[in-house]
Amino acid sequence: MEMLKQEISLDPENWDTLRQLGHQMVDDMLVYLETVRERPTWQPIPPEIKQRFQQPVPLDSQDLAAVYEEFQENILPYPLGNIHPRFWGWVIGTGTPVGMLAEMLAAGMNPNVGGAEHAAVDVELQVLNWFKDIFGLPKDSSGLLVSGGSMANLVGLTVARNATAEFDIRTEGVQAAPRKMVLYSSRETHSSNQKAAELLGLGSEALRKIPVNEKFEIDIAALEAAVAADKAAGLYPFCIIGNAGTVNTGAVDDLDTLADICQREGMWFHIDGAFGALAVLSDDYRPLLKGIERADSLAFDLHKWMYMPIEVGCALVRYDDKHRRAFSLTPDYLVHAERGTSAAHTWLSDYGIQLSRGFRALKVWMSLKTHGLNAYKHAIHQNIEQARYLGALVDAAPELENLAPVAMNLVCFRYVVPGMSEADLNRLNEQIVWDLQEKGIAVPTSTILNGRFAIRVAITNHRSRREDFDLLVQKVIELGRERTT
Ligand SMILES: *Cc1c(COP(=O)(O)O)cnc(C)c1O
Repeated sequence: MEMLKQEISLDPENWDTLRQLGHQMVDDMLVYLETVRERPTWQPIPPEIKQRFQQPVPLDSQDLAAVYEEFQENILPYPLGNIHPRFWGWVIGTGTPVGMLAEMLAAGMNPNVGGAEHAAVDVELQVLNWFKDIFGLPKDSSGLLVSGGSMANLVGLTVARNATAEFDIRTEGVQAAPRKMVLYSSRETHSSNQKAAELLGLGSEALRKIPVNEKFEIDIAALEAAVAADKAAGLYPFCIIGNAGTVNTGAVDDLDTLADICQREGMWFHIDGAFGALAVLSDDYRPLLKGIERADSLAFDLHKWMYMPIEVGCALVRYDDKHRRAFSLTPDYLVHAERGTSAAHTWLSDYGIQLSRGFRALKVWMSLKTHGLNAYKHAIHQNIEQARYLGALVDAAPELENLAPVAMNLVCFRYVVPGMSEADLNRLNEQIVWDLQEKGIAVPTSTILNGRFAIRVAITNHRSRREDFDLLVQKVIELGRERTT
């Protein structure tokens, strides 16, 4: 084999040039964040710009400056919009400047936080301990930072399945179950829980979707009846999923009662608190989340209502041993040693699916230290107040109607025209949502509640101000009038 003439690295030849450009990038992004309010919330990507992402893989080098220019021209002007003060679509957080800088520092260090002895592991363990405290879970419970709520639900439900199985499920697989395993949630539960049931080999049919009451909370009597019926039919009810903030309306199930039922029936209690769990930080809302501290596993996001840069979510599990037993697998090449780099006490890869794991914890650690938990309490409470404010504006406007009780940070409403059919109202409100988005005014999204198309506003945005909701209401009314006169 012929030897290469030259060895290369991907470090710059000239660090000074890179340094200068790097500083420029930081400056530009800070200006971009500082001026975000002046731009449209969202704008469609022109076809000629989309075309520029159809190129073959570049073989030869070009200046970073030129590539950066392309980024500024073709990528930066077409964001999803979630950093904007008037973005309230789905449930997506805004991120922060501090979070952005922390991401850069984490990428610079580039550790693998799967395990071994290095500071990033301690940072993650520190962050996990903070959240155990915040939710009132025992100090010796375990946890893991993950990509988001979906993964956190998958981690929690994996432990639930494995810890309650009546046989060695890791060795024999679900097909060896002596009794079919079934679990329960309300029909308002997020789709990621169904995905988890499917991925865990239980099948979506094993996830019993229980009806809800008029506040969109799980119907406890219906749940108890379903558990009894499944037991009578020879099945094995092993888990209840409680919602701390449903994605449609922000509804919170009666967590304390769900915990009682789990205790009585010997079932695992998993809570999907993707965004809503963080409402424990609001003094007003904490009582509503009573029972959250009784979860066997709790999934929540930090990139939604903690405003951290995407991606970061968290799974907490009450029992360290059960959590570890669901995931730990230590082949020879990962052996945990007595000394040196492999001497770590905790290998986070023993608690989840990923082996190589990024340094997500740094942005959480740095943000919490910099802003302090009190700032998050304030911002979360502020979002709850803004939802109430918007709900009141809707109530006060004869052309608007709330379609669900305002719960937490979520408002579902529509424009109404007396005498118009439900089908036409649905179409009209859909047009209004698209208009708001395409005109760059604001980004709410939508949902269907009892057959009615709702303009859905989910506020996990520390940049929103009351006047942004005034503008939303004013524009919805204007657009509704334009389309009906
Ligand atoms: C967003 C959300 C999820 C999924 O979380 P990701 O971070 O998007 O993976 C799960 N449950 C609820 C209630 C959510 O709002």
